Amino acid sequence: MRVFNFSAGPAALPETVLQRAAEEMLDWHGSGMGVMEMSHRGPEFTSIAEKAEADFRTLLGVPDNYRVLFLQGGALAMNALIPMNLLGTKTSADYVNTGEWSKKSIEEARKYCRANVIASSEDRKFTYVPPQSAWTPDPDAAYLHICTNETIGGVEYFWVPESGDVPLVADMSSHILSRPIDVSKYGVIYGGAQKNIGPAGLTFVIVRDDLLERALPVTPSVFHWKAQAAAGSMLNTPPTYSIYIAGLVFEWLLAQGGLAAVERSNVAKATLLYDCLDTSELFFNPIDKACRSRMNVPFFLRDESLNDAFLQGAQANGLVQLKGHRVVGGMRASIYNAMPVEGVQALVDYMKEFERSRG
Ligand SMILES: *Cc1c(COP(=O)(O)O)cnc(C)c1O
Repeated sequence: MRVFNFSAGPAALPETVLQRAAEEMLDWHGSGMGVMEMSHRGPEFTSIAEKAEADFRTLLGVPDNYRVLFLQGGALAMNALIPMNLLGTKTSADYVNTGEWSKKSIEEARKYCRANVIASSEDRKFTYVPPQSAWTPDPDAAYLHICTNETIGGVEYFWVPESGDVPLVADMSSHILSRPIDVSKYGVIYGGAQKNIGPAGLTFVIVRDDLLERALPVTPSVFHWKAQAAAGSMLNTPPTYSIYIAGLVFEWLLAQGGLAAVERSNVAKATLLYDCLDTSELFFNPIDKACRSRMNVPFFLRDESLNDAFLQGAQANGLVQLKGHRVVGGMRASIYNAMPVEGVQALVDYMKEFERSRG
């Protein structure tokens, strides 16, 4: 029996995608081989990779002057590769600190440049996004970096900052494809695939093509965006199976009607869970309502001595991976695209029953 898996990542995948992958495991489309066994330069895998990129572009409405790269190393590698690829002749970059993933980006960037923290929500334990009126940007910064969905804290941007001529760089690891976005407002959008796209091992970078001229000479070739763009992300062997599964997920999203339809479903799921939290005497979510993440919902029990009982009962009900990140404690339900509304309903039903009997 499959459980409802609330893991923050690697995260649940759509069941139909897993079934299709299973059917195609030994023999992809009559080729007599599985996708993992294919040459990345052969016609079969080339068609898989091209379709995956085309569908990703269609879903997000990526303009023609942006390149889509499928790389490796995860978002954490990108924390170093962003300054390497974007500093050019500049020596500093601006960062907004909204939580644990922002902090990681800042720490890593400091190996390569001056990373100015131009706004932070640390004063209130990362429960909000600082309004742009409080930011102190440097017009000469190489770029302005934000994390648009803090996976650990559960804080999401529902607006796009204005950065003028400074390219806006966004870590969208944990909410990419959860709703439509205006790609043209960003210079670079990047993230790991294992939250809302597919298996671990795949990292996507969407980069405006005029920004490809700024890489430092020391940038490793396989992480050099311009070189990878020229090579169709195949300067070296790409994570072929992860790209294939991502492609199946993209097809699944398109079949639902694209990201506007996906967003309606995500709003419904998030509303169900936050309404439960807001009407409970036992459970609560500490994040400002205007920036509560639709993908990652941290919550706490007012009586923390009930935490273990809550988690054990959840497990017994087929609701798994609800323990919060060690940095914030409590609970966290990650409800990415692949989580069906039935899973959120089952969690809410369990929470109400737990509160009635134990709270
Ligand atoms: C998971 C996550 C990361 C780290 O991704 P890796 O693939 O492990 O490098 C970075 N940023 C955000 C917002 C994340 O959710």
